[in-house]
Amino acid sequence: MVVAEHAQGLLAPVTWELLACAGQVASDLDLEIAAVVLGQDAQPLAQEIARCSGVKTWAVEVEGLAHFHGEAQRLALAELLPRLEAQVVLGAHSTSGLDWAPALAVDLEAAYIPGVESVSLEAAGPTFWRSAHFGKVREKLSPVAWPLVLTVQPGAFEAAPPAEASQGEVEVVHLSAPPCRTKVLEVVEGAGTDAGLGRAQVVVAAGRGVGQVENLELLRRLAGLFSSAALAGSRPVCDLGWLGYSQQVGLTGATVTPRLYLACGISGARQHTVGMQGSGFIVAVNSDPQAAIFNLADVCVVEDLTVFLPALLEMAGG
Ligand SMILES: Cc1cc2nc3c(=O)[nH]c(=O)nc-3n(C[C@H](O)[C@H](O)[C@H](O)COP(=O)(O)OP(=O)(O)OC[C@H]3O[C@@H](n4cnc5c(N)ncnc54)[C@H](O)[C@@H]3O)c2cc1C
Repeated sequence: MVVAEHAQGLLAPVTWELLACAGQVASDLDLEIAAVVLGQDAQPLAQEIARCSGVKTWAVEVEGLAHFHGEAQRLALAELLPRLEAQVVLGAHSTSGLDWAPALAVDLEAAYIPGVESVSLEAAGPTFWRSAHFGKVREKLSPVAWPLVLTVQPGAFEAAPPAEASQGEVEVVHLSAPPCRTKVLEVVEGAGTDAGLGRAQVVVAAGRGVGQVENLELLRRLAGLFSSAALAGSRPVCDLGWLGYSQQVGLTGATVTPRLYLACGISGARQHTVGMQGSGFIVAVNSDPQAAIFNLADVCVVEDLTVFLPALLEMAGG
């Protein structure tokens, strides 16, 4: 059972990746895949999933769930999933996924494996790989109890291609308000929020090597060359107030999986790379040829960014 992630009436791209991961697990365990969408906008989103993936999708309209609320989502899932006899529950390893998945595992007395990056299919059943200790080690885990709750690292699985089979069925379920101990009064978007960061196909990221706030203009102009781009930063850049914390990528910031990630003056500390390692193609600009970011980059530009970026912009006509 894939738990769709969505906001502002749009499915998050990770939902399609969850379906891809579910496909691997389901084929190994001979289970059927289904999806569930919770919230006020559930029906059109459930229809989109059913149409594009061909899987049966539950549109769960929960009384009073106007905004995402981890506690309400967890309690609604804890009521619904045993009825549907879900054996494996997959959510995103995102701030919202982490708001409900561990507690749901406790409610369901389920095994819980967070941050899944890959699945290997073995004679004894599926086993799951994840990074631990800031990526210093990789762990291989297998469940010894069922059901199983997984959170899946965004960017770790390639989104499943659209189904060619007929449209999946959509079933609408109405649940009364769960007995929450908290309620969401209001949701206010943070000042300077770059709402596009999670959806941008190109992320131009600034590190401390940018040197001074004025140099961010070079990165802004670079981002302006693409139709779907967002500006992001490492933690020091956000600590300095040059960018908002909503633009921070990494362990304590956002996880992004754009098609192109341009890291400018970023050393490649593990706490940063965990948030961008799932990017499709990585270009790093750093004056230090030993910078760790080059271990991850597809293209390594060893140069002062104040020299390289103006030259690149001039060539690109930006
Ligand atoms: C619990 C915890 C959580 C954390 N969470 C995060 C997080 O979410 N995100 C995050 O980013 N960090 C996080 N950090 C901080 C992280 O450990 C690093 O300190 C941080 O990522 C380093 O940022 P940086 O690469 O911009 O700066 P630095 O490590 O200082 O690197 C700057 C780089 O710029 C290069 N450079 C300098 N001048 C130039 C130039 N003119 N042209 C080109 N290159 C140049 C240098 O060679 C260097 O490699 C966290 C740390 C902890 C302990």
